[in-house]
Amino acid sequence: MKYVSLANNELRTSFKQAVIQGLAPDKSLYYPTYIPQWKASFIEEIPNLSNLEIALEGMRPFVDQDLSLSDLELILSDVLSFDFPLQKVGDYYSLELFHGPTLAFKDVGAGFMARCLGRFIQDEQEQKATVLVATSGDTGGAVANGFLGVEGIDVVILYPSGKVSPIQEKQLTTLGQNITALEVQGTFDDCQSMVKKAFVDGDITSKVKLTSANSINVARWIPQMLYYIFAYKTLKNNGIQDAPVFAVPSGNFGNICAGMLAYKMGLPVSHFIACNNVNDTVVDFMNTGVYRAKDTVATISNAMDVGNPSNFVRILELFNKQKKELELDFTACSYSDAQTKVAMQEIYEQFNYVADPHGAVAYLGLKAYTTQNPTTAGVFLETAHPSKFIDVVESTLDIEVALPENVRHLMNREKQSILTSNYEDLKSFLLQ
Ligand SMILES: *Cc1c(COP(=O)(O)O)cnc(C)c1O
Repeated sequence: MKYVSLANNELRTSFKQAVIQGLAPDKSLYYPTYIPQWKASFIEEIPNLSNLEIALEGMRPFVDQDLSLSDLELILSDVLSFDFPLQKVGDYYSLELFHGPTLAFKDVGAGFMARCLGRFIQDEQEQKATVLVATSGDTGGAVANGFLGVEGIDVVILYPSGKVSPIQEKQLTTLGQNITALEVQGTFDDCQSMVKKAFVDGDITSKVKLTSANSINVARWIPQMLYYIFAYKTLKNNGIQDAPVFAVPSGNFGNICAGMLAYKMGLPVSHFIACNNVNDTVVDFMNTGVYRAKDTVATISNAMDVGNPSNFVRILELFNKQKKELELDFTACSYSDAQTKVAMQEIYEQFNYVADPHGAVAYLGLKAYTTQNPTTAGVFLETAHPSKFIDVVESTLDIEVALPENVRHLMNREKQSILTSNYEDLKSFLLQ
């Protein structure tokens, strides 16, 4: 498999180079040169295969000769070491993607990319690389955790002081080893602009090899397709015959786009619903045919506060840039914070299930669609454990949310961060 820039089909490269570079040299996204097709016999066998067997078959064509089958297997068994259960919620299923080390669905993509990048960077050069990321809370933990202990890579992570939840802060600041947390006295935007400045600062880049753990990296995007196959497997094993309808809480549209990739490779899926908060750029596009990026609006489902979703071009590409074709398989919808809170209450009161705000937005989208198009296989993706958004969940439902077992120990660990007030602090830290 080679990868090609979506804006220039002469810019082709290997999986390894696409992972190292992140973006193509023309700043466009990389995209696979062809969509592999699964044999009907593989689809039939899915209910009988282990998650690892499914993952190996799913990912193999995309990594090509850059990872041996045994290396791929090592990486995948590391990254998929937890469950992806479907919970019955009323007439629907919640696909719980939060059982990983940082309680967020990004653990799989971030972990896979980190391990690939660690390996490729070691192959390519002796110099250590520094991954520099800014986080508003959720992504940073998954990225940092993915790179924890990966040789040849240091991770420097900037987060806004006092603006991430307690568990998120612990996840960023207690890892140790090759991970350093810089606690910035400012907003997420301040963190982001410091990172951007560092990447173009010659004093730094001449001495330190900086890398971004960008969410559009093909190694972060593609493995997310596995969730959809695992859900299909579980539905089949529960005797459900309908092809699933997937409602996906979407921000940058990476997750849903990976599901649509699996569909184009042959996975039976009946429909995809992109569920947004009020950041509704794609809803507008589906209504008008005109794509116009918007300013980001802050919401309670803040991991989806994206006004210009970068992966949407990949979705269009999967459907030959034809909105008419896309409409047959894909719907987009948008909900306000007030609607999201009502949905969280409804899910709790009627089904005794605690959804986080992102999952609740997806539930709303699923409910609206299946009212018109009934199915026995309606699945909404629950992308974060409710304890990661504890303030909203506790105040909306008037309950206390317990931390899951696998992160409880973090709360007793000591926070280690370096207070950072401006760009010069970051620069001298990187150069020291
Ligand atoms: C990142 C994130 C999303 C959005 O995923 P995209 O792939 O960017 O669409 C949804 N929910 C949670 C909890 C997230 O962290």
